[in-house]
Amino acid sequence: MKTKEIIKKTRELAKPFRVTKGKNFRLKDVDPDDTLDFTKEADKPRSKEALVRGVTALAELQDKLYAQDKWAVLLIFQAMDAAGKDGAIKHVMSGVNPQGCQVFSFKSPSSEDLDHDYLWRCMKRLPNRGHIGIFNRSYYEEVLVVRVHPEFMAKQKLPPKLVGKKIWEHRFQEIRNFEQYLARNGVIVRKFFLHVSKKEQKRRFLERIEDPLKNWKFSSNDAAERDFWDDYMGAYEEMIQETATDKAPWYVVPADNKWFTRVVVAAAVIDALASLDLAYPKVDESKLKELAAAKKKLLNK
Ligand code: ATP
Ligand code: MG
Repeated sequence: MKTKEIIKKTRELAKPFRVTKGKNFRLKDVDPDDTLDFTKEADKPRSKEALVRGVTALAELQDKLYAQDKWAVLLIFQAMDAAGKDGAIKHVMSGVNPQGCQVFSFKSPSSEDLDHDYLWRCMKRLPNRGHIGIFNRSYYEEVLVVRVHPEFMAKQKLPPKLVGKKIWEHRFQEIRNFEQYLARNGVIVRKFFLHVSKKEQKRRFLERIEDPLKNWKFSSNDAAERDFWDDYMGAYEEMIQETATDKAPWYVVPADNKWFTRVVVAAAVIDALASLDLAYPKVDESKLKELAAAKKKLLNK
């Protein structure tokens, strides 16, 4: 299959999960177990093939992105623990040139981070032109974990009179403005919420506890966060309602089946790159002369 055809096909795959207008978005309308028309066991190999083809197409697009050196792509991943962020990032980006890709994981803020405004640490990690940047968690934690656990807000050293009732409304507005600023500067933003069910998360945690090779992945703190599940879901829903835009859409990706999550994420990334006017830079007359001269010299030696 040609890259063009792959691009067309993948577009269709990501579309049902894209949110560009949040007003009527409801999390309950997305089934974490959804696999579209892929039936689970029979179509798993078909989806794996689609992923391999997608990864190849992605590598080709990335090569042009890098050569052209004009656009930057920022991919943001948010999810509850064990939803499969790390695996999705690993698989989808497996074919791309590491030189043109940068991944950054945002953990609890350091004391230096807390000494600044909340976007500061993220701004420092924005991708260069020609690069794909991945945020594994991001400034969106500021309206998620910080909202669910007010003690994090207390550590942010904000002047108290600025922490009022409107704080979340303000943060959503700031984030929308920031992403508009990025779009206007040639940074394409795509955001992914990997939507796993509480039941599947439990299954994955138990697997982490029972399988010695996965023990390292388990943290009791992650399990403790399950008590706040409904608060998180409320925060996620409002975050999507408030920050989904045409220029910076959210993809709410069903995450109970990892193979399906990966195909959808790959499709959305391909769609983002394909929407750009990517092409290898054309060289000018003097460069062509230079190439011809170099060729002549090489052939004569
Ligand atoms: P994994 O568990 O797969 O290694 P992770 O992204 O869950 O990946 P952890 O080190 O477990 O990484 O967790 C990072 C923690 O940091 C998360 O619980 C997240 O909510 C928290 N965090 C991220 N940003 C902020 C923030 N701005 N304020 C407070 N906590 C934050
Ligand atoms: Mg974790």
